[in-house]
Amino acid sequence: MKKAIYAGSFDPVTLGHLDIIERASRLFDCLVVAVLENPNKNSLFTVEERKHHLELVTKHLENVEVASFRGLLADFAGAIGADVAVRGLRNAVDFAAEYQMYLINRKLGKEIETIFLAADEEHLALSSTNAKEVAVFGGNIDFMVPQEIKPYIIEKYQK
Ligand code: ADP
Repeated sequence: MKKAIYAGSFDPVTLGHLDIIERASRLFDCLVVAVLENPNKNSLFTVEERKHHLELVTKHLENVEVASFRGLLADFAGAIGADVAVRGLRNAVDFAAEYQMYLINRKLGKEIETIFLAADEEHLALSSTNAKEVAVFGGNIDFMVPQEIKPYIIEKYQK
């Protein structure tokens, strides 16, 4: 069975992430979408909230599981028996950062292979950060995030 992992902050999950998840789910028997618990990042949503959002937006995908982890991706992938790490690429900046991460992961965990999926052109300008920057001023985020999680974002900024 080919198991892949797609890790990220997903703070919040965007339509760009969801596109990568849907496409990767068709390439593997099982895809684990894993929220990285990063204590150094100031996040809008808790890890539990982000997992809940991912569960909501992936409920139509039978072979997708949602998890969270601390520490190194290579270690977590080894622990859950994932052989492939999926990453999304929007542009050359992503490529430079992702390629470095790939080289490091390869040193750390020989077993894991990385594959890059090119972002759809509709999602090239999307990031979690952009979505938060628009939402904080009450802008339209319909084209940025899945409809199901829009109310959770609006609620955060109303507080
Ligand atoms: P960040 O590093 O900004 O916290 P994430 O952790 O949310 O970003 O991103 C997880 C993965 O999803 C990375 O491989 C990233 O390149 C990819 N990604 C982010 N946004 C998009 C998008 N709009 N389209 C495709 N892939 C994306």
